[in-house]
Amino acid sequence: MSEYPVVLAAPSRYVQQPGLLNDLGRWCRPFCPGGSVLVIAAPHIMPRAAALKAGFAREGMKMELAEFGGECCNAEISRLRGAMLRACCTMVVGIGGGKVLDTAKAVAHFQQVPVAVAPTAASSDAPCSALAVLYTADGRLDRYLPLTQNPQLVLADSEVIAAAPPRLLAAGMGDALATWYEARACARSRAVCSSGGVAGAAALAMARGCRDILFAMGETALADAKAGRRTGAVEQVIEVNLYLSGVGFENGGLAAAHAVNNAFSGVGLCPGVMHGELVAFGLLVQLTLEQDDEEFAHVLRFCRMAGLPCTLADIGCGQLGPEMLELVAEKACDASGPMKNMPFAVTPAALCEAIRTASTRAQGE
Ligand SMILES: [Zn+2]
Repeated sequence: MSEYPVVLAAPSRYVQQPGLLNDLGRWCRPFCPGGSVLVIAAPHIMPRAAALKAGFAREGMKMELAEFGGECCNAEISRLRGAMLRACCTMVVGIGGGKVLDTAKAVAHFQQVPVAVAPTAASSDAPCSALAVLYTADGRLDRYLPLTQNPQLVLADSEVIAAAPPRLLAAGMGDALATWYEARACARSRAVCSSGGVAGAAALAMARGCRDILFAMGETALADAKAGRRTGAVEQVIEVNLYLSGVGFENGGLAAAHAVNNAFSGVGLCPGVMHGELVAFGLLVQLTLEQDDEEFAHVLRFCRMAGLPCTLADIGCGQLGPEMLELVAEKACDASGPMKNMPFAVTPAALCEAIRTASTRAQGE
């Protein structure tokens, strides 16, 4: 058997609606036979405790509420597993940013119960994925925890998400825009994705949809979000950032854009830059490697419009010396990372050149 299967992994249900946080019981009930859920909530969600509880009570369910301790680390996961056992919960719900959701996924994974995640921003495509990123107690990357299943439920309260700072929505658009170009690279190389198979027609259609919808609606959506209007464009971009890109990357694969992101963030060079922002710069580097001038121009225009970084200076690396750049390039080309999914071999030297070229071109145009 030399041929890899086409695999499609996805959450069982993705639900998006304004005010959804007040109605979680309705969606969680079918997955929670015991009727008791542990809700792990970001601190800014705690004032909503009464409304959350009422939403579960309407379905005859009980909620045990735990405030997130701040880090997705072993100690926090153990603490929450204890809380879950004491309250006899048979389901976990995470409400907040990426670390809260990953903690909920990890707790559910170890307790072997269903999990629902409710992102409070659309800043990356991680919520839908079967992956949790674990950190040490002092915030350094510890390990990736691959999960056997995607979350059973992804519950997106678009009222809450649209009210988050617009920079988060823009960062999510950067992460989502890269989805198509990375899937295209993986399809060309027949790379194996994190789903365990190769990209099929459905994954590629979803990945392409990220790009097409963002090019059509991204500008309007961002302007609306900045003006505090939750319009149809905002709703569509939230769905693209969270679902289409999440399912698109997991089944379509990652390539140079994420390899560049991983390397810059891995050496700690861009502490103030968000994941999706760094991926946007990585995408310009990938298109430079691919010598795709036409798409480079489209993506550059989009990134400028969205306020996403386009140059080394934009990611805080304007003064980066050649040795440091070589270190980043070597890290990005590591054989265990997504650079191997490119349809041609990328050497650290070629990558250094592409990073400089992408940055200079973006500066000039
Ligand atoms: Zn990403």
